[in-house]
Amino acid sequence: MTAVNLQTTFSSKDRDVHLERLKSTYFELLIIGGGATGCGIALDAASRGIKTALIEKDDFASGTSSKSTKLIHGGLRYLKQLDLRLVRESGTERAVVNRLAPHLVLPEKMLLPLIKGGTFGKWSTSFGLWLYDMLAKVRRGDKRRMLSRKETLETEPLLDRDKVIGAGYYAEYRTDDARLTIELIKKANQFGAHALNYCKAVDFLYEDGSINGVRCLDTLSGESFDVKARVVISAAGPWVDELRKLNHSIGERRLHLTKGVHIVFPFEKVPVSQSVYFDAPDGRMVFAIPRGKVTYVGTTDTNYKGDLDRVVVTEEDRDYLIGALLTIFPGLKVTRNDVVSNWAGLRPLIHQEGKSPSELSRRDEIFLADDGLISIAGGKLTGYRKMAERVTDKAVHRLQEVLNRQFPESTTSEIPLCKRCIGTNEDVEDYIKEVKSRVVKMGLEESTGWYLVTNYGSQSEDILKSMTQFRRSPEVSLALAEAGFAIKHEMIQTLADFFVRRTGNLYFDIGRVHQMLEPVGQFIRESLEWPDQRFREEMDLMQQYIHDATHYYKTDLI
Ligand code: FAD
Repeated sequence: MTAVNLQTTFSSKDRDVHLERLKSTYFELLIIGGGATGCGIALDAASRGIKTALIEKDDFASGTSSKSTKLIHGGLRYLKQLDLRLVRESGTERAVVNRLAPHLVLPEKMLLPLIKGGTFGKWSTSFGLWLYDMLAKVRRGDKRRMLSRKETLETEPLLDRDKVIGAGYYAEYRTDDARLTIELIKKANQFGAHALNYCKAVDFLYEDGSINGVRCLDTLSGESFDVKARVVISAAGPWVDELRKLNHSIGERRLHLTKGVHIVFPFEKVPVSQSVYFDAPDGRMVFAIPRGKVTYVGTTDTNYKGDLDRVVVTEEDRDYLIGALLTIFPGLKVTRNDVVSNWAGLRPLIHQEGKSPSELSRRDEIFLADDGLISIAGGKLTGYRKMAERVTDKAVHRLQEVLNRQFPESTTSEIPLCKRCIGTNEDVEDYIKEVKSRVVKMGLEESTGWYLVTNYGSQSEDILKSMTQFRRSPEVSLALAEAGFAIKHEMIQTLADFFVRRTGNLYFDIGRVHQMLEPVGQFIRESLEWPDQRFREEMDLMQQYIHDATHYYKTDLI
């Protein structure tokens, strides 16, 4: 067993190097699960000098961390649950993550319309938003404003004139959850962490009754191998209890999974002026969020007992969201046929007896098993950094005992999640304008500039530069350049890694998936040297992804 954790690149072609290191190194920390939580832990630990490895059974961010509402938000609704600690922590974290990844966590004004007979009155909303700003330490210029009826209708003319009595207008942030996750693991890798996707933890290894590693299955090759580590953390999101069953540590406190669905419309069909957070007829709150060429609407919150590995949208989910949308914007001409794509994810919440899905707390919880396994579940994407810090502190405590060595405190609040960060929010706006004008000159749509910067930040330069090597149309050249970038720097192993998690195209530009599947598929096939059979399987798998993102099932899959 080697003692050093040598740095490698995060190229798809380096997967074997990471695999070999996993087999041959005795790690100090092994993390199971490559969602935002696990990748956040990998960065926290590796940046403290801990010899760290991470395994992910599918792709990074393939679980809940690509299926959220994609907001870095303080959680206004948690005020209703009087969970002030959660509001304070997620509220203040917003500004931290915005500073660390300004191209990926962008300020977003949110409109909260007040409706005759609705859940929120003017005074309670004004007080609630004031408290929210206070707890979240919101900057002066971003503090909430209460709008009159006239101002509200000017801000959002699509609202029902007969019902609107005013609105709250407040600050949140938007992100791309899967891109945030991949930037976390890339950064962790730069600090020396080894991470492998398509590697499943199938059993635990023990020494004197304590866990000292994990038996893994490489799901691409079918090979089994062992990874040794002094401390093992499970950050397996909705699968946390499956692993707790495996080591027989599951007790009274268990997960309670709820499903959340989003549906996507072409922007012209739901042309909201900004994000809106509104009352559904059953008293729940739903978002409508414009993003590039689309507006997405969500979410639902229902108990879930189906297949964890394939979560689909039912007809009931879709109809509930369309009903909510038409209640707040009755003038919209939308039908089921206008929904162009969807996604569904699972919230790994902690069970509380007698509480409905929407009443369950969104706090995180750490479970410590007698055999040493540390599991973390619950929480929010927004709080990933603090969750990572808390759980890494637990691992450090153990490591200090066994290694008799000190580790520093977390410094992730000062580690930017970009190679060359763009700077302030205003700098990001300016850069978007600049890239827009450049891409138009290259024959691409203006909106491509926004797409590139908010997905890749300054890494857009590498992509734009490498476009010139392809003698194809501007659109195809761009897609090939993105695929080349994803191979070189972002460890893609399948077509879905590219079309779903690295680009978000399946959800936000499904037409592009149809157009680019063949050329990008061929390019990735040649680059990764796939045999014919593998290529066919990959194309079939993409067809299943496309099917699920565009179909509505009668019931959940069991
Ligand atoms: P996951 O992302 O699910 O990661 C766990 C990973 O573990 C998975 O990738 C899985 O494949 C892997 N894994 C499981 N078992 C194994 C194994 N045996 N071996 C190896 N790997 C394994 N939060 C916000 O802050 N803002 C929002 O707007 C927001 N909206 C949401 C909307 C919805 C509909 C939902 C469902 C959640 C939302 N959340 C939001 C919550 C947020 O998305 C989650 O808290 C967060 O993504 C959870 O990340 P995670 O890493 O803990 O779990």
